[in-house]
Amino acid sequence: MADQSGEASSSSSVSEPTIREEVEKPEDFLEPDRKRRKLLKQDGKTEQKLEHRLGGILCCAVCLDLPRSAVYQCINGHLMCAGCFTHVLADARLRDELATCPNCRIEISKTSASRNLAVEKAVSELPAECQFCAREFPRNSLERHEDSLCEERISSCKYSRIGCPWRGPSHEGAEHEAHCVHPHRTGADVMEALRDIDARTLEERKHYDNIFELLSYEKITFNDLQMKPYRTDEFVHKLFYETARFSAFNHQWVVKARINNSQRDPTQSSERDMTYQLILKTKTTFPLAIHYLILKGPFGDMKVQPRIHRFDFTEQDNESPYLPLPLPDTAECNRLLAAKAISFRLIMFLVSK
Ligand SMILES: [Zn+2]
Ligand SMILES: [Zn+2]
Ligand SMILES: [Zn+2]
Ligand SMILES: [Zn+2]
Repeated sequence: MADQSGEASSSSSVSEPTIREEVEKPEDFLEPDRKRRKLLKQDGKTEQKLEHRLGGILCCAVCLDLPRSAVYQCINGHLMCAGCFTHVLADARLRDELATCPNCRIEISKTSASRNLAVEKAVSELPAECQFCAREFPRNSLERHEDSLCEERISSCKYSRIGCPWRGPSHEGAEHEAHCVHPHRTGADVMEALRDIDARTLEERKHYDNIFELLSYEKITFNDLQMKPYRTDEFVHKLFYETARFSAFNHQWVVKARINNSQRDPTQSSERDMTYQLILKTKTTFPLAIHYLILKGPFGDMKVQPRIHRFDFTEQDNESPYLPLPLPDTAECNRLLAAKAISFRLIMFLVSK
């Protein structure tokens, strides 16, 4: 731990007045994980500093954390961080209800709620603690400090590529590298380390080779589709997504998707994911061997990692298994649930004999 004496409240002396952009970044949707801790920590203090009192006023009404950037408000002015806002909208969709402000119960939606830029800017000037050295910095410069300036941030040895496993505080890096044994290892030892790196590269390479091979197929088609939310008519309604019918290779198809594999009540779980399946809707007299993949497409914005799957559709077996839609995290899944529809591109390749 670094010496903290006299530094803790010097937020203005280390301030780098960078203007934060109003554009939403993916991390806006990451939900704060240190819920309530900040507030609990302050219990017992009789006199609080102005910045702590402001923190209590500007925090998100749902998670009580200080929003990292985008702040939304209901028409009565109750504040919510972007993560909680999309979560509230997604929960309402899963329950088939109108979304309401957790404070005043007034209806909220993407159009009725607005950003509050003054709160966003004020929060970005409030001090936050560096996770490595525990010194305080204005929130808008903390990321840069933690990523590239903090002496206590965890870094690895510059010889990690040839097998050095050392990881430690950045300020010890130079000392370690001066005595690191790895530059003096034999070529044979280094080969060992390079083999792991090669294996990973090879894996990626296979993925590309696969795509290029598919691209020389005779029969390729793509559709820009939109999945819309529906409910099952069981006693407990379940949410699922479905596209309209579309045609490919002279057949009709739909794509269906579901949340947490149709878990009974996904609002009870904080982890969320989506799986999808491709369904052949028309009769076929011969098997259709299809490779398919989902991309965000020109009208969508889902952060999906493309994965190629194959399924042989037959008369009896006309539904592919549910496969994961590789989204980066729960926050991205909530963001998709909060939207009215999910746009994507489906590319299909037909294996011909
Ligand atoms: Zn929140
Ligand atoms: Zn409200
Ligand atoms: Zn630090
Ligand atoms: Zn080393």
